[in-house]
Amino acid sequence: MRKKLAAGNWKMNGLQSSLGEIAALAELIGQPNCDVLLCTPATLINSAAQVADKSAINIGAQDCHANETGAHTGEISADMIVDAGGKYVILGHSERRADHRESDACVRDKTRAAWAAGLTAIVCVGETLEQREASNTLDIIGGQLATSIPDKATAETLVVAYEPVWAIGTGLTPTLDQIGEVHDFIRARLERRFGEGVGRSVRVLYGGSMNPKNAAEIATVSNVDGGLVGGASLKAADFAQIVDALS
Ligand code: PGA
Repeated sequence: MRKKLAAGNWKMNGLQSSLGEIAALAELIGQPNCDVLLCTPATLINSAAQVADKSAINIGAQDCHANETGAHTGEISADMIVDAGGKYVILGHSERRADHRESDACVRDKTRAAWAAGLTAIVCVGETLEQREASNTLDIIGGQLATSIPDKATAETLVVAYEPVWAIGTGLTPTLDQIGEVHDFIRARLERRFGEGVGRSVRVLYGGSMNPKNAAEIATVSNVDGGLVGGASLKAADFAQIVDALS
């Protein structure tokens, strides 16, 4: 059985003064039946990891560089994330694919770097509204999966997040059938490529306008193993309800 994962993505939100939300979340959730993760801005990883120490909350990052060290001003390596106390890293989020022109090959190289440092990579895939309306959703997702994920994935090192671009931050969500169709497809592709053992054990998260009201219902869909949550992960009270819904 795959343990569900409630993953928060704070994006470019959060100052030292936001650390109280992490302490509050730890109190609210206690020891839940799902794994819990907050991917904070890089500036907060170290202090967030200290606040979350001995709680059920893991801390992660939202990106890393593909190289180990070197002349890359402004970048952060996977080793630096581990050194700061991070355990996971989100890679290939659609905002990075759009804002920084990250290609599937770039996401694959970053994923390799994350694995080399001992991080679990949450590799994001998802179609735009245009692509869905042109009935290209599964082709797009299939291509993203094939190129963004390196060989040698394991259940411990890889999480896939399905995030329809048009559902992110919009309040729109696909129907449960639409979510199920994509998640079943991702599962089949993972099994085909990595074998049944690994393919069946990798967690596949849904992301895009997940909130305390819809989380429980989305979590009932086949092959949905949790959520990648943006806006609703910023406040402890909201995210605690999502953790509860996924437990
Ligand atoms: P949202 O963002 O929950 O605010 O839609 C999700 C994400 O981008 O990971």
